[in-house]
Order: sequence, then C-alpha cells, then structure tokens
Amino acid sequence: MGLGTAVVTGASSGIGMATARRLSAEGFEVVVGARREDRLRSLGDELGARAMRLDVTHPASVERFCAAVPECRVLVNAAGGAIGRDRVEGANDDDWRRMYETNVMGSVRMTRTLLPMLEASGDGHVVMVGSIAGYEPYVGGGGYNAAKFAVRAMTKVLRLELLGRPIRVTEIAPGLVRTEFSLVRFRGDERAAEAVYEGMTPLTPEDVAECITFSVTRPSHVNIDTLVVLARDQSGAATVHRR
Ligand code: NAP
Repeated sequence: MGLGTAVVTGASSGIGMATARRLSAEGFEVVVGARREDRLRSLGDELGARAMRLDVTHPASVERFCAAVPECRVLVNAAGGAIGRDRVEGANDDDWRRMYETNVMGSVRMTRTLLPMLEASGDGHVVMVGSIAGYEPYVGGGGYNAAKFAVRAMTKVLRLELLGRPIRVTEIAPGLVRTEFSLVRFRGDERAAEAVYEGMTPLTPEDVAECITFSVTRPSHVNIDTLVVLARDQSGAATVHRR
C-alpha cells in the first residue's frame, strides 16, 4: 500500500534530493521542487516523480507549484542555505534578506499553502530542515543563525498551533553535511567550500534523509519534535575535530 504523497522542496541537490530518493524508495509518491529544472527533470525521471520548478522566495511560484500538487501527506521544507560569513558589523542587507526569504519565508509559504491538504490527508506531517545554526551562534554566522533560529521558533509555534489536529511537525537540525551548501555560501569558491570539511568526516545527505524518513514513518501518534544530528567529528556549531 502506498504511503501517500510527499512534497520535497530543495530537491535539486543535497539533503532534499537524498530525501526525495529515500522517501520514494520507502513507498511515497514524491513531488519535487527547486529552481534548477534540468536537475529536477532527471530526478523526476529517475523516481517517476512529479518535478516542477519552484522558487520559494516568490509567492506566485509557490502558488503555482502547490496548485499542481494533487494531495499531500508529508511536506519536507529542505530549500534553504547560507550566503556569506560576514560579521554583523559588515552585514550585507541583500544576503541577510535572501537567507531570511529562503529559509524562513519560503518554509512559511509552503507550509501555509499546503496545510489544508496536509490536514485533509488525515495524517499530515511537516518537516522543517533547520540546523545546529538554529541552536548555537558562531562568529560570522549572524545572518544564517538569525534565519535558522527563526525557523526553529516558527516550527515550535506551528507545533503549538496545530495541537489537536492530525498534523505532525518535526524539525531536523543537522550539523556539517557534505552538499553544495558551502559552495553556495562561498559563492562558488571551491577551495573555501572544501576547507569546511577538511580533515573531518561530515554527515552525508543520505544520513539526514534517513533521519527524515525515520520521523515520517513512525506511527501517527508519535511526533518526533526535534532531531539534532551532528557528525561524530563535530560537537558544536563551530567545534570541529580535524585530523
Ligand atoms: P544544497 O545542496 O545547496 O541544497 C539546497 C537546495 O535548496 C537546492 O536544491 C536548491 O535548489 C534549493 N533552493 C535554494 N534556494 C531556493 C529557492 N529560492 N527556491 C527553491 N529552492 C531553493 O544544500 P543542503 O545542505 O542540501 O541544504 C538543504 C537544507 O539543509 C537547507 O535548508 C540548509 O540550510 C540545511 N542545512 C544544511 C547543512 C549543511 O551542512 N549542508 C547543515 C544544516 C542545515 P535550486 O538552487 O535549484 O533552487
């Protein structure tokens, strides 16, 4: 028997892509969204999944995408990321705004729009991909910390507000995961991105996908509220053991 439809944002790369693959293997009908359509198309072909362009920072794009979603039991808000590592004193307005728009407003828009379908499924589940950066500030993390702290706050509020309705809410908060995250953060600078993982063993996107899949496949009375998942080589947002 199928497990219903799972919508995964940020599925053109990293955690979102691994999650789409893992949920599909588990038996979910998967609908994937992101901006890079070529990647989405090949993922869609691979999984037999519906793949549609989605820019979570544009309300009209979110509306269009969600209008084409036939039903939804699980929503995984994985679209997001960091831009730059400026200190607060040198904060770039555009970068901070983009991080807030993508991580926070993007997740709010997707959740708000799909909530009626999630509820109608009788066993809805919203998964927010937060971060250890939503728990621990670090030097140069200001804009991203602010965004992921906000994601965590909003996730908690949602859980409170949905109490008594058939929708679970989970935050998955990873530490360092080897994806395109650092390449995006350092604007394509491969050396700077690689240095983030130097001498340590980070999580893989599949490790995080496994946590998400675990959360959404518990019996419906079980709500995994938060999972903070770090590599063994990382004990805090900026505390990393390097060999
Ligand atoms: P990634 O490989 O860079 O993937 C980010 C995904 O988000 C891509 O599919 C990207 O697709 C999508 N995205 C970005 N802006 C978007 C927009 N405006 N509209 C729709 N999709 C958008 O990085 P990742 O590590 O998998 O990141 C996934 C989530 O995990 C993010 O929320 C990130 O903050 C969080 N996270 C990552 C780490 C880490 O160390 N990697 C740790 C903790 C939390 P397009 O560019 O094609 O739109």
